[in-house]
Amino acid sequence: MFPFRYIKAVDEQSALRAGAAGARYIAGGTMLVDLMRETVERPDVLVDINALPYDSIDLQPGMIRVGSLVRMSDLAAHPIVRQRVPVISEALELSASAQLRNMASIGGNLLQRPRCLYFRDMSSACNRRAPDAGCAAIEGRNRMHAILGTSQHCCATHPSDLAVALLALDAVVVTRDRSGERRFALADLFRQPGRSPHREHNLGPGELIVAVEVPIGSEARRSGYLKVRDRESYQFALASAAVVLDMADDVIRGARVAVGGVATVPWRLPAIEVALRGQPPSAGLFRRVAALAAAGAKPLSENGFKVDLLKRIVERQLAAVAAMP
Ligand SMILES: Cc1cc2nc3c(=O)[nH]c(=O)nc-3n(C[C@H](O)[C@H](O)[C@H](O)COP(=O)(O)OP(=O)(O)OC[C@H]3O[C@@H](n4cnc5c(N)ncnc54)[C@H](O)[C@@H]3O)c2cc1C
Ligand code: SF4
Repeated sequence: MFPFRYIKAVDEQSALRAGAAGARYIAGGTMLVDLMRETVERPDVLVDINALPYDSIDLQPGMIRVGSLVRMSDLAAHPIVRQRVPVISEALELSASAQLRNMASIGGNLLQRPRCLYFRDMSSACNRRAPDAGCAAIEGRNRMHAILGTSQHCCATHPSDLAVALLALDAVVVTRDRSGERRFALADLFRQPGRSPHREHNLGPGELIVAVEVPIGSEARRSGYLKVRDRESYQFALASAAVVLDMADDVIRGARVAVGGVATVPWRLPAIEVALRGQPPSAGLFRRVAALAAAGAKPLSENGFKVDLLKRIVERQLAAVAAMP
C-alpha cells in the first residue's frame, strides 16, 4: 500500500467540497481498495460517503428511486423490486458473491473499473491506466473482451450486470456537484473508449451520484436477465441480456433489449427492439431478430465465440420473457 489521507464526510456539502478538491469517493470499497492494494489506483485523499443520506429505496409515482448508497443485496431483495422490476433483482443476484453484495453500493457498481487482466497488471501496457501507453489486450489474451464498441485503444468490457438491467429500463442518474443537481439518461453516463479510454464516464470532477430513478410502467414486470459465464458463481459475464417486453393481446407492443459482457459499455439493441414491435411472439421471430444482435461486431483473436453466444442468449431470453405469465 502507499500513504493516503482518509476523511469521513459528515454531510453532502463536506463530501462535495472534498470531491471538488480532488478527493476520491469511497462507498463499499470492494473495488477501490482492491485496486489501491495493487497500486493500480493511487488516490491521495479518500472521502468516505457512507454517512450521507442516500441509502433508501423509495416508491414514487411511476418510478422507484434508489439511493446510490443502497447495498446491492438490499436492492435485490426489495419486495417491490422483485415483483415489479424482476430484471434488477436477477441481474444483482447473478453478480459477485453474497458477501460482496452486502458491502457494495449501487453507485460504486455503476462506476466500477474494467476487469481486464492487463489493467490490473502494472507491468503491462494499458491505455486506461496510463494514457497512450498502448493496449496489451488487442494482441494478447482477449477471450473475455468486447466485440462491440471497441477501438484500437481499448477493448475491455464494462463489468456491471446492474447497468445492463438499468439500461433496458431507461433509468435516469441523479448527480450533484457544488453547482447543483443534474439528471440524465443512464446511457449517457458511460463513454466508449475511442481515443481516450481512460475517460470512462461523463461525470465532472467531484460529481457525486446521488440516486438512480427507475421508471416502473406495468411492462417492467415482464422483464428478466440472463447471464452466461465460465462458472456459475463469482464470475463476470461472457455475455448477458436484459429484456423488457410490453405485451397485450398476444402482440409485442414494445421491447427493450440491452446486453453486457460483449461491449465496452452497457449496450442497447435498438434494431431488435424495432423489429419486435407490433409482432406476435414466436420462436421464429425471436431467432430472426436475434440474428441482428451482433451487427457491427469486431471479434478479436480469442473472442469470436461471443458473436454466436450473444445471438443465442438474446433469442433465449426473448423467449423466456415472452413466456412469463
Ligand atoms: C470477486 C469480485 C467479483 C465481482 N463480480 C461482479 C459481477 O459478477 N457483476 C458485477 O456487476 N460486479 C461484480 N463485482 C464488482 C462489484 O459489484 C463492485 O466492486 C461493487 O459494486 C463496487 O461498489 P462499492 O460500493 O464497493 O464501490 P467502491 O469500491 O467504494 O467505489 C467504486 C468506484 O465508484 C466511485 N464511487 C462510489 N460511489 C460513488 C458515488 N455515489 N458517486 C460517485 N462516485 C462513486 C469510487 O470513487 C470508485 O471509483 C465483483 C467484484 C469482485 C471483487
Ligand atoms: S483492453 Fe483496455 S483495459 Fe485492457 S489493456 Fe487494453 S486499454 Fe487497458
